[in-house]
Amino acid sequence: MAISERFLQSGPMPSGSVEGIGAKEKEPINNICVMKFGGTSVGSAEAIERVAGIVEAYRRNGNPIVVVVSAMSGVTEELIKVCDNIAVQNNQGAIELINNLQERHFSTCLQLNMPSLWKLDLQGELNSLFDQLREEANRDGLMLDGRRDSILSFGERLSAKIVAARLGLLAEPVDASIIIETNDKFGDAAPNMKRTRKNVREAIPNLIRRGRIPVITGFIGATPDGRRTTLGRGGSDYTASILGWALGSREVFIWTDVDGVYSGDPRKDPTAVLIPEMSFVEADKVARNGGKVLCPKTLEPFLGLNGDAKTVVWVKNTFNPDSQGTRISHSSQL
Ligand code: ADP
Ligand code: ASP
Ligand code: MG
Repeated sequence: MAISERFLQSGPMPSGSVEGIGAKEKEPINNICVMKFGGTSVGSAEAIERVAGIVEAYRRNGNPIVVVVSAMSGVTEELIKVCDNIAVQNNQGAIELINNLQERHFSTCLQLNMPSLWKLDLQGELNSLFDQLREEANRDGLMLDGRRDSILSFGERLSAKIVAARLGLLAEPVDASIIIETNDKFGDAAPNMKRTRKNVREAIPNLIRRGRIPVITGFIGATPDGRRTTLGRGGSDYTASILGWALGSREVFIWTDVDGVYSGDPRKDPTAVLIPEMSFVEADKVARNGGKVLCPKTLEPFLGLNGDAKTVVWVKNTFNPDSQGTRISHSSQL
């Protein structure tokens, strides 16, 4: 059964559904680049303008690209507070938090450099997501882990709409819940890599063949029976590497708010130095030892591959794109 059919059986299809899911897997297009933008990189209209500049520059060279986005900075934290309020039956508190989030997303939308008509359309789409979120918050019942993940998913679903709208007519927001199939370990779900790879290859190259730029929600997935899951905090990095692995990408870019991977947290340790080249194994150690710049599982899809693996993961700064960044590959030596 195609994953989209499973969603239809278990509630409404996520918005941003992908034509092509369920279609026969075709030969993937070579050299699809994955670019993931973190929370700060989509955290304001000014930042989203930078994202648009980076994506447009890359596309101008004719390169096929997939964009992955995190929720706007701080939004997942606010959604966690929404859940905590619901858990103690403070629904009024939850609704106030949601209304504040709506204001922030709307004001970002208004400040973007795009036609007013597009802004109106975008506001309509954001409205509909916020209505769903309020409905979810007002629903009776316990704050179970599945419900929590469903609420947390709104952060990335909102930002994907905004970034796609800013990128224009060629961009298409994609809800990763229809491609990233996971187990039901809510809050830290593990993808079924084989099924996910098949879903990705059915959906994404078809969009790219039609000239589109998929703008995919990071962080989220769904169980085979269509319940939303999240991949763990910071999990949009993992979404990007899963997609890069599934598409056989040559390059995966993790765009963040520092110049690359450092020997320590550059915001806390003034002696930390930028590491220009790393192996997957070395970067994996940093990620698993709390180096927040990459979430713990980011390198996992590449660790099992043999030394011929062609993917290179770059960590670069959205706010300083000309800096060299960190290049992570199989062959790099520390
Ligand atoms: P994003 O929202 O782009 O995913 P994160 O906040 O998750 O960004 O990760 C970037 C942050 O990681 C940096 O602002 C930095 O403070 C922190 N960080 C921790 N350890 C490291 C490290 N070893 N190298 C670079 N940044 C690090
Ligand atoms: N928005 C999620 C989080 O804050 C995922 C991410 O940012 O990568 O954990
Ligand atoms: Mg992060």
